[in-house]
Amino acid sequence: MDVVTLFAAAGANPGGVSLTSHSVVAPVPTGRPCGSCAPGGHPAAALDPSHVPAAHPAAPAGVPVLDSPGATAADLERLVPFAAGRLAVRRTMTADGAAYTPMAEQCRLFLRARPEWTAVGHDHGGGGLMLLSSRPEDKTRPPGPWRKARTYIISTWRHVLNGRPRAASARVELRLATCDACEFRTGGTCGDCGCPLAAKAARDDESCPLGRW
Ligand code: SF4
Repeated sequence: MDVVTLFAAAGANPGGVSLTSHSVVAPVPTGRPCGSCAPGGHPAAALDPSHVPAAHPAAPAGVPVLDSPGATAADLERLVPFAAGRLAVRRTMTADGAAYTPMAEQCRLFLRARPEWTAVGHDHGGGGLMLLSSRPEDKTRPPGPWRKARTYIISTWRHVLNGRPRAASARVELRLATCDACEFRTGGTCGDCGCPLAAKAARDDESCPLGRW
């Protein structure tokens, strides 16, 4: 998903709110350096466009950015009142973009506690950028009632024929952890198949429609 495009028309303007009291970086205009450019903030020279490191993913304009190596889910929670429904979080991927970092796990914990928020975009380059949103217009619209009912009936029929196998609790948790940060999750529902995630994950013979578990 092209996250920058997704937020290009963002009407949120939390940029007028100072977030520095929360020990995080204030909203960073698109293309400006992030807080990791220099210890303690952005020196005047850092605002020179030529200083912008190409490796840093640009946050969408007007969206508050959390860019702090030790940030936690609680820091994200404190930003919610200022976020106008959208937050960007840096440092979610390793430098080579091959693996998620502890910051991504903190995002997941935040999303687990706040199911109305969804990770609507992931940029894997430049140390990662995850975009979180609670706005309905940013989320995948779940299938309509007819498709939902059809999926549920087929799934339940197959489950009964298979002898109603239940997944082990560790497996359920692993599945739900994958769903926590999935861009298709809408609340407690999979936006792709429309199934309730808790029930789906508990059935051993279920699978993610996108092959993620
Ligand atoms: S089941 Fe798959 S597609 Fe649906 S929310 Fe979970 S990870 Fe995403």
